Amino acid sequence: MHNIDLRKIYKFHPVDPAPSPSNLPTAGDLYYECTECKVIVSSVPRIKIACTCGNLSGVDGKLVVQKPEQVKVVRGKLK
Ligand SMILES: [Zn+2]
Repeated sequence: MHNIDLRKIYKFHPVDPAPSPSNLPTAGDLYYECTECKVIVSSVPRIKIACTCGNLSGVDGKLVVQKPEQVKVVRGKLK
């Protein structure tokens, strides 16, 4: 699996108030941090991605979340 550490490119701030796990928002500037393995992935992944523990995986703009309660939604800004 090819993973880029997005923290090197973006500054992340938690979305406040935190969105409900049952209705996670998606947008080009929104990213999900897996609270299990701390990996950050895009909420609309264009390339094939997955977090280390397998909670988050996706491709072609569609992210699959296994455990939504273990997701922190963050907004990314280019450094
Ligand atoms: Zn994970």
